[in-house]
Amino acid sequence: MDMASNGNGLKEIHLPVLYNFARAISAVFDIQTLMTHFFNILKTAVDFDAGAYFVRHENHSEGRVYVKGGMDKSKVDAFSAAFLTRVRGVCRDLPEERLPAFGVSILMERGNGAEKTGPMRFIDLPLKYQGDTAGLITLVSYGEKDPFEDPGVIDAMATHANAVLEGLLSHMFAEEKKLAEILLNMSEGVFIIDRNGHFTAVNPKGLELAEGLCDREVSCVEGSSGERGVFSECDCDFARCVKRIKESAAPHEKVRQEEIKNAQGRIFTLSISSLDLEGGYIITAKDVTEERLMQKRIMLSSKLASLGEMAAGVAHEINNPLQAILCNIELLEYNANDPGHKRLKRVRDGVLRIKTIIKDILIFAREQTTETENADLNIVIEKSLDILKHQLRMVNVGIRLELSPNPVIVKINRNMFQQVIINLLQNARDAIEDSGVGSTVTIRSELVAGKEAVVEVADDGPGIPENIQDRVFDPFFTTKDVGKGTGLGLSVSRKIVEGMEGSIVVASSPGKKTTFRISIPHHGVVIDERRGKKRREYDYSVLRDKSILMVDDEEGVLQIVTEAVTPKVGSVEPVQNSKDAFERIKERDYDFIFLDIKMPGMDGMDLFRKVAEAKPRLTERVIFMTGDIESKKTADFLRLTGCRYLAKPFAMNELLDVMCELTLRADAVKG
Ligand code: ADP
Repeated sequence: MDMASNGNGLKEIHLPVLYNFARAISAVFDIQTLMTHFFNILKTAVDFDAGAYFVRHENHSEGRVYVKGGMDKSKVDAFSAAFLTRVRGVCRDLPEERLPAFGVSILMERGNGAEKTGPMRFIDLPLKYQGDTAGLITLVSYGEKDPFEDPGVIDAMATHANAVLEGLLSHMFAEEKKLAEILLNMSEGVFIIDRNGHFTAVNPKGLELAEGLCDREVSCVEGSSGERGVFSECDCDFARCVKRIKESAAPHEKVRQEEIKNAQGRIFTLSISSLDLEGGYIITAKDVTEERLMQKRIMLSSKLASLGEMAAGVAHEINNPLQAILCNIELLEYNANDPGHKRLKRVRDGVLRIKTIIKDILIFAREQTTETENADLNIVIEKSLDILKHQLRMVNVGIRLELSPNPVIVKINRNMFQQVIINLLQNARDAIEDSGVGSTVTIRSELVAGKEAVVEVADDGPGIPENIQDRVFDPFFTTKDVGKGTGLGLSVSRKIVEGMEGSIVVASSPGKKTTFRISIPHHGVVIDERRGKKRREYDYSVLRDKSILMVDDEEGVLQIVTEAVTPKVGSVEPVQNSKDAFERIKERDYDFIFLDIKMPGMDGMDLFRKVAEAKPRLTERVIFMTGDIESKKTADFLRLTGCRYLAKPFAMNELLDVMCELTLRADAVKG
C-alpha cells in the first residue's frame, strides 16, 4: 500500500499538505489571508467544490465564500444561502446587520475542474475562541464520490487554522483595546463615519466638540431620533463640510483638510481620511481658536515690538532738532517785548506737547512687560487720549472726561491697560465715523475704595445690534471691512482685563449709545501717585560762578544750549566729542559736566566710565542728556550710575533747576 496511515487517521500522503499549510500561514496577519491559504491548500488534497468561512469577535465579523473556477452562478448563490443559514444556526445571538455580505473568491484549480453533478454534501468545521463559538468553516461537494469520507486531513488543517485564528483574534482584541484607549484620551475629536454618512463611533473629545461643530438644536452626532448617526440628514456647517469634502475628494485622495468657523466665531480644523476596508471615513477635529488667537497676538506684539524699535530711532532723530528749536524759542522769548511773544509761547507749548507724545509712544511701543504696579487709571486714560486725541479730532469725535477728582489707583499693567482704553476709543471712533451717527465719547472713572475701580467708555454712536451684542468679545468677530477690523480688539481687551482679575461688559441701546464698563478689584488703601510733583522755584544766582563743560555731538544743540545758559553761569565750554572732553576734564575740575549719551566713537557712557576711573569725585557732577530715555540700555545705565539726566528736548529752566538742586545739596553736605 502506498498510503500509510498514522495513528490519528492521517495518511502520510497528507503530511506535505499540512507542512505546506503550516509554512504558508506562519506569518499571516489577517483572517482572510489565513482562510485563503486554508482553502487553496486543502484543495490540493481534497476534491471539494466550494467552501466558506465566517468569524466574529467583539465588534468584528467577517466571512467569505471560495468556489471552484467555472462554477455556475446559481450554484454559488445556493451555497452562499445555505452557508448563511448554517452560520445563523451556529451563532444564534448574532444581530442580522453583523452578518457580512459575503465576497466570493475563486479557488486554485486541481485536475480538469469539470462540472460535477450529484447530491450536495456538506462538512461543517466549527471555529472556537477560548472555548466559545467564534465562527464556522463549511465545505461542499456535488460529485457522486464523497470526498469527506476520510476527514483526517480536513480536521488537522482546521485545527491548525483555528489555533492560528485564536492568536489573531486575541491580537486584534488587544489592538482594539489599545486603539480604544488612544481614542479615549486623544485631545482631538475623532468621528468614524460609514459609507452612508452615518456616525459609527465618536470619542469623548468628539462629543464635546460636536456642540461647537454642529449648531443645530439636536446635535448631528446625537441624531434627531435619539440614536447616533443621522449625520447625513443634518444641515449644519459640519455636516455640509464633510459632505462637500466627500463629494469633491479625488478618488485616490487619502486625506483632506478643511477649516470651519461656527456662528460664535470658533475655528475648527477637520482632517478627513477615507477608510479602505469599509469604504467609510475617519474625521479628526480640533478647536484651534485659542491657537489662532495666540498666533495673531504674537504677530501683533512682534509688529508692535518692531514699531517700538523704529519709534526709538525716530525719537532720537526728532528729539535733537526739537532741543535746538526749544532753546531758540526760549532765547527769543527773553528778548521779545512785541506781539510775537504770545505766538512764541504757543510754539513752545507745541514743542513740549510733541515731546510728551513721543515719550508716550515710546513707552507704549516698547515696554511689553506683564508686570503689574500701582498706577492711577486717570493718568493712564489721559496718556491713552494723548495718543489718540489727534485721530479723534480729525474725524470730529469729541471727548468728554468725567474722571474721578481723586486718583484711581489699582494694581495693573499700565501698557496693557492703555491698550484696552485705546481699543475701546478706536472702536467708538470707528462706529461714529462709519455710521455718521453720534459725536462724543465720554470716559468716566470712579473708585469705590476697598471694592473696585470702574472705567466706562461710552459713545453716542450707532450702538450694537442686539443679536450680536453677546458676540463682540468673540475672537475674530468683526463687522468691519476686510483690512479694517481683525475682530481681536475686544477679545484681547477682555483677556487683558481678566488677567488683572477684572471684568469688562458692554451695554448698548441700538441707535443711541454703547457703554463698555471695566471693573478692576481694588484692595487696600488709597495712594496719591501725583503727590510731590510740584516744581520748586530756584534762585539761579547760586550758579553765577559755576564752570560747565557741555558735551554733545550735535552742533546745533551744543551751540544753542551754550548760548542759553551762558548768561546765568560763570563759564561754559562746548565740546563736540568725548575724546576732547576727556582731555579737558583731566585739566580742570568742572562744577557740572553735561554729557550727551549717544555719540559716535566714545559715547557718553564710555566717557563717564573713564571719568570714574580718572577723577571719581567728578562723577557726581555729571548730568546726562538723552533723546532715548526709554531704551533699556540707557535706562539700566542711568539706574546703575544714579546720575541725574535731562530727557531731550528739555526747557532751559529744567537744565538750570538740576544744577541748582545739585549745588544746594552739595552745600548742605558741606555745611
Ligand atoms: P474689530 O474692531 O477689529 O472689529 P473688536 O473685537 O474690537 O474687533 O470689535 C468687534 C466688533 O464689535 C466690531 O466689529 C463692532 O461691530 C463691534 N463694536 C465694538 N465697539 C463698538 C462700538 N463702540 N459701537 C458699535 N459697535 C462696536
